[in-house]
Amino acid sequence: MESNSHIARRTILVSGAGIAGLASALYISRAGYRVEIFEQSPSLDPIGSGLQLSPNAMHVLSELGVDWQVKSIATAPPAIIVNNASNAKTIVEIPLGQEVTSNYGQPYLVVHRADLQEILKTACQDDHDIHIRLGMKVRDAVAHPNGVSILADSASGTHNYRGIALVAADGVHSTIRGECFESKGPRSTGTTALRALIPSQEIPKELRTGNIVMWLSPNIHAVLYPVRAQRYYNIVLSVPENFAEIVGDSKITGAKISDALKGWSSQFTQLLNIKTDWNTWPLMAAPNLKSWQEGCIVLIGDAAHAMTPHAAQGAAMGLEDASVLGWALKKEKSPELAFNLFQKHRLQRTNKVRRLSATNRIIYQLPMGLTPFRNAAMKLLGGKRLFNRQDWIYRWRPPGQTER
Ligand SMILES: Cc1cc2nc3c(=O)[nH]c(=O)nc-3n(C[C@H](O)[C@H](O)[C@H](O)COP(=O)(O)OP(=O)(O)OC[C@H]3O[C@@H](n4cnc5c(N)ncnc54)[C@H](O)[C@@H]3O)c2cc1C
Repeated sequence: MESNSHIARRTILVSGAGIAGLASALYISRAGYRVEIFEQSPSLDPIGSGLQLSPNAMHVLSELGVDWQVKSIATAPPAIIVNNASNAKTIVEIPLGQEVTSNYGQPYLVVHRADLQEILKTACQDDHDIHIRLGMKVRDAVAHPNGVSILADSASGTHNYRGIALVAADGVHSTIRGECFESKGPRSTGTTALRALIPSQEIPKELRTGNIVMWLSPNIHAVLYPVRAQRYYNIVLSVPENFAEIVGDSKITGAKISDALKGWSSQFTQLLNIKTDWNTWPLMAAPNLKSWQEGCIVLIGDAAHAMTPHAAQGAAMGLEDASVLGWALKKEKSPELAFNLFQKHRLQRTNKVRRLSATNRIIYQLPMGLTPFRNAAMKLLGGKRLFNRQDWIYRWRPPGQTER
């Protein structure tokens, strides 16, 4: 093994350069530490697809000073239009736009994950106290009295690095969670996401409105919204995990999805005629852990609390984590104390969001007999009150700022 060990007295190591890892690195640096980020991929490729960024997430990006860049590549949808998948009739319209900005001090936006990651990566590269090491897969970590040592595999061999603490932002399949915490791997949620990106000019005009459009049907629902400054539209279908078997084999195409969506209106199925690649993304959730901390090692983002995407809050929670972590590091004398304070502030809220997300999926995908009652209830409540179900999430502010 190549020993590349160096004692770095004020260096905090971060594994994973996703949204949570990059945002954490920026906050850790602002708390006065050096940061070494280790990312297994040799380059940060544009993986993932659309993200809805609610005001709570935008407040974090504003605190980091990158909100203006995000706004330049994002879209602020005027509304979420919830349609019945079978007859294309609108069940309810949830207003977003200026109303959200006035209420929460930040807008509700939609972006491509890769664009957000690129903005955060550039901010990290501009910071002299942050060093990103690509092509380095963190294999293990060991805590010792002076901090932590990690083993990282790269094309040139295995390397040993040391720091005073480790922030594991290595996603839902977290290696560090598996190696350093008494936990099982991620669990299946029974749901798979099918995702595609379509150039805007190919989207039928009546759907090219800048809105978020949802189609609800028993067991399956779909979401469409613009990304990349409206140059593309992101489509996600949330389907049962055995959907690949239903459609015949593992390679999913628009035509096969269309065959399986019996009874869906052409308002949605016309999108499946557009030639594009469909990606299958099994939706996994992190195991429920009582603690995300083992001494000077802490889990953050999806590594700690990956959830289904049905509250559109996974990345937002990773951003909130980063902000609280930075605040705790400034407040406490050591990373170990800061990690403890961090998780005290985060465990309850993220568990509550996870539960809401699971409930949302059930509501969106109610079985046939119950959908008329769901639709009637949605109509009765109306868009504003439906939006307000998540008001407690959106109203959150970074520590030190007052909630609205
Ligand atoms: C279909 C779908 C829709 C979604 N919609 C939304 C939404 O609208 N709004 C929202 O807020 N969230 C949404 N999410 C959730 C969001 O995408 C995730 O919660 C978020 O991207 C997780 O960020 P992360 O940085 O914690 O993890 P990741 O993005 O998984 O990043 C982890 C990083 O760590 C790296 N890594 C992994 N293992 C190692 C290792 N051993 N060593 C070094 N590096 C490693 C990976 O390569 C990766 O770069 C959605 C998710 C899905 C699947």
